[in-house]
Parts: sequence; structure tokens; C-alpha cells
Amino acid sequence: MIVKPKIRGFICTTAHPDGCAAHVQEQIDYVKSKPKLENGPKNVLVIGSSTGYGLASRIVPAFQSGANTLGLFFEKPGSEKRPGSAGWYNSAAFEKAANAEGLFAKSLNGDAFSNELKEQAIDIIKNEMDGKIDLVVYSLASPRRTDPNTGEVYKSVLKTTGGEYTNKTLNTDKGEIDEVTIGAATSEEIDHTIKVMGGEDWEFWMDALIEADVLDSGVKTVAYSYIGPELTWPIYTDGTIGQAKKDLESSCAKIDASLKEKFNGEAFVSVNKALVTQASSAIPVVPLYISILYKEMKAKGTHEGCIEQIERLFSDRLYSGDPKLDEAGRIRIDDWEMREEIQSAVAGIWTSVSNENFGDVADFDGYQSEFLKLFGFGLDGVDYESETDTTTAVPSLAE
Ligand code: NAD
Repeated sequence: MIVKPKIRGFICTTAHPDGCAAHVQEQIDYVKSKPKLENGPKNVLVIGSSTGYGLASRIVPAFQSGANTLGLFFEKPGSEKRPGSAGWYNSAAFEKAANAEGLFAKSLNGDAFSNELKEQAIDIIKNEMDGKIDLVVYSLASPRRTDPNTGEVYKSVLKTTGGEYTNKTLNTDKGEIDEVTIGAATSEEIDHTIKVMGGEDWEFWMDALIEADVLDSGVKTVAYSYIGPELTWPIYTDGTIGQAKKDLESSCAKIDASLKEKFNGEAFVSVNKALVTQASSAIPVVPLYISILYKEMKAKGTHEGCIEQIERLFSDRLYSGDPKLDEAGRIRIDDWEMREEIQSAVAGIWTSVSNENFGDVADFDGYQSEFLKLFGFGLDGVDYESETDTTTAVPSLAE
């Protein structure tokens, strides 16, 4: 079928298989242009590996370190009548490229919060990945979680934990600035958001992997967080999602202690840059902040996307012998975003940005083209007017 973008609010309900493949290839080419990783990982599990930061975290070890990868995600295959999800096509393209270089790449499509998926992953590690893994990347972003032990379903919310909060926001459909008022969460909503986006499931994963004896000596694990500037704190750092990220940091300390003792291993939280992904486009206020941030960082030559961020995470932090932790023990690859010169410029623009000057002070074109790229649209060399095969399979899931 011929696939065109269909945007509904902050999501695009279609994805282009060839465009997603071209987007993955762009990222692979970037990684290949970098020096090989010295002492990089060899057998990697990526939980949430199909889009955004998780996809980049699969591409970097595979193509910079020759690693075998097992990727987990929750995506929809396409049919002849309906395109599948972008993460499905990304994973198909990733596996094909990895296989072409003789790299082992397998995927599991299902609920990573469940015990079943953990068991299936452990089986593959035991039987097909030399029995041990040396890196676990935890990169899930999900609106809900079913507790695997009780069956209870928890839903996360994006609210403040103080009072009501009003600020500027971007209507990404219309490219217009609006005002948004975000209500305060109840204590139950805070608890539920922590259940979904906090560290419990990361701990469950690490416990299951330890129990199954599939972690290698010197194993590392990393999960991702965000802090950002004060203007986004009410909705992010001091909001419900920020509470979940605090919980992730507590889990990190527990996992780190246990890995140190048993495997001479390490656990990290890496604070990453604000970027256009399927998860971040759903957060009020953030897309406007990102549009202004992109303009400033591009002007200074310090702009990065997911692949540049994760390449730097691996080569300059995780595998450099010096992760350069902050005072709270976190990796900071948001360092370029948080530079004083960038943040003071963004804060100045924030106070004066309006529908009249938006086009000049923000990079909305950049925001929109990044957003469309997430779904495989707007890539060079892709023929968007011709029929394409929407039934593309992820090779390891077609077996
Ligand atoms: P994303 O939406 O691009 O990716 C989410 C991934 O999780 C996908 O692979 C999806 O298939 C998978 N997933 C969701 N629910 C699942 C389930 N039940 N079972 C299996 N897989 C499931 O999100 P992202 O922006 O790359 O976020 C990844 C992490 O990075 C999150 O922890 C997020 O908070 C963090 N982060 C994001 C940003 C940003 O600006 N985007 C900045 C800093 C940190």
C-alpha cells in the first residue's frame, strides 16, 4: 500500500517501512563513522529496544562493539491493509542489518513487565547467547503496567505533585502556542506512576537474571532519566514522572550494590537530553521547550539526537573507564543541554515566546521533521508515492 502520515494529536498512527529502515540505517552509518569501542559489551539485553533511546542503545553496541543483542519491545506488525508500528519496522531493519554483518540479533515482542517475557529472554540468553550477558539497558516508556504478581493494572499520569500549574505549551498539530493548566496528582496517582515508570520492574529484571545465573563478571546495567531546567520542573522533575525517576535512582543503588558484590558489576542511571520521541511528545510544555532548545543547540553546534547521545554514553562514559558521575552518582549526558549559555538563552526566549515570534526563536521545523522521522517519513531516498510492503517481518519473530 501507499503509506502517508496520519497525525492525531501527539501521535502518528501510520509508519513507513522503508522510511523506518532508512532512519535505522542513518543511525548505523553514524555509529560506523566512529572509532570502535575498546572493551565494549559483547552480549547485550535491551528492554525497550524498538524506538528512541532504546533503539539507539541496541545499534551502538551492535555496530560499534560487534555485540550480540536481544531486544524486547511492545509493537504491532503490519498487514496488507494497515501499516505496523514504527518500532516494528525499526526492529525488522535493525535485525536485517545486524544479520548481514554476521551479528546475532533476536527480538521478543510482548509485555516486558510480565514474568513470561523475562523467562523467554532468559531461555534465549542461556541457549543462544553463550549463556551470559554483560550489559542490560532498561529503556521502557509505557503508560501502564500490569503487576506480574497480583495482576493489578497501574496507569501513569503526567501531573504535578504540588498545586495546579499553568504554562505555555505547543500545539504540535497546529504549530501554535497555547496555555496549558496541569492539575495536581492524588497520592494514588503518584503511587501508580511510580509503579509504572519507577524502578521496581528494573529490579525484577535484574533479580531474575541473577537468579538464572546469566550475568557475566563485570556486567553493567543502565536506565534512563531526565532532569531539565526549572521551567519544566513542575511537570517533570517535581511532577509525577519525576517521583518515578527518583524511585528509579533508589533501585539503581540497590542493583549496584548487588552487582558489585556478586559480579564486580555496576548499575547506572544516565540523565539524557530532552529529545523528540514518541514518549516525550506526549508531555505538555516539553515540546515547546525542545523546539527552543534545538534552535539554541544547533546554533552552538552542540545538538545531538538519540544516536549521538547514546554513542557518547557508551564511548565517553560507560566504557571509557570514567563515567564522570555527578554529586548524586548519576551519569550526565544532558551536560551540553544544561550548559549555562544554553539554559540562560532558552529561559530568556521562554518568557517572550509568542505566536508572533515563534518561527524566529524556535526550531519548530526541526521538531516536526524529527517527529515525522520517528515514523519513517521525510527521509532522503525513500519513494513515498509508491506502493510498499507493509507486511515486513522482524526476521527472528518470523521463525
Ligand atoms: P520511546 O517511546 O521511544 O520508547 C519506549 C520503548 O519501550 C519502545 O521500545 C516500546 O516498544 C517499549 N515498551 C513500552 N511498553 C512496553 C512493554 N509493556 N513491554 C515491552 N516494551 C515496551 O521512549 P524514549 O523517549 O526512548 O524513552 C526511553 C527512556 O528514556 C524512558 O525511561 C524515558 O523516561 C527516558 N528519557 C527520555 C528522554 C526524552 O526526551 N525522550 C529524555 C531523557 C530520558
